[in-house]
Amino acid sequence: MPRRARRAATWLAALVLVAGGGALALLLYPQPLYAYSASAGRLAVHSDRPFDQDKARLLLAEVERRLATAPTELRDGASTYHVFVANSEWRRRLSFLWNYGAGGVNYYPIAWNAFLRQADIDAGALLRSDGTPVPQPRTLAYYAAHEIGHSLIGRRAGAFANWRLPAWIREGLADYLGFGGEVDIEALTAALRRGDPDLDPAKSGLYARYRLLVAFMLEREGWSVDRLLQSDMPIAEAERMLLAAVRG
Ligand SMILES: [Zn+2]
Repeated sequence: MPRRARRAATWLAALVLVAGGGALALLLYPQPLYAYSASAGRLAVHSDRPFDQDKARLLLAEVERRLATAPTELRDGASTYHVFVANSEWRRRLSFLWNYGAGGVNYYPIAWNAFLRQADIDAGALLRSDGTPVPQPRTLAYYAAHEIGHSLIGRRAGAFANWRLPAWIREGLADYLGFGGEVDIEALTAALRRGDPDLDPAKSGLYARYRLLVAFMLEREGWSVDRLLQSDMPIAEAERMLLAAVRG
């Protein structure tokens, strides 16, 4: 390689390293980019836009209420969990990376922080790209609890096992926590039977199908969270069990 090309390659490699290191640092410690924050107990919310402190504490109390309903294996009172609301596009690009467009993201175990896209903390709502609020029941508390749920699940499962979990278990369990364990198994099974698009994660972008299966395993089949996390049951088999057991 000619000397000039070699020098250019060295500079390029250095640039990639610095940029990569910077991006990683901002996932590990994003606080400097988020000027506004509120905390309650072990939870904290940060945003790049001002918000009402009392409303933020109400939000965190609701997130805590949902997480407190988690099965005992997933309860963790010791660690602090931070949620970052990225309203500006450049912050979203920095934190969401290849997940740009998602409602939330969590890079456990690389970083423990949860990132949410643009949101109205005062109204307790995540916002779509056109600025309209995501309707009930997917409140901001739901999204925050779902994303923190991934950290709780990752801790329990172990980083490698967490990464290898079938999507229905990983996302279903996080969604189960996001909803505070409130799952109408009969109604969702009926929706699954009639082919409701909400029950198709690929079409709807929702995890209702996975949440239903997880709720069924935990509540009706009596599985523990650990059994669920150690199972690599294919989704088709879980669905066969559900449809055989639930009338709905
Ligand atoms: Zn998720």
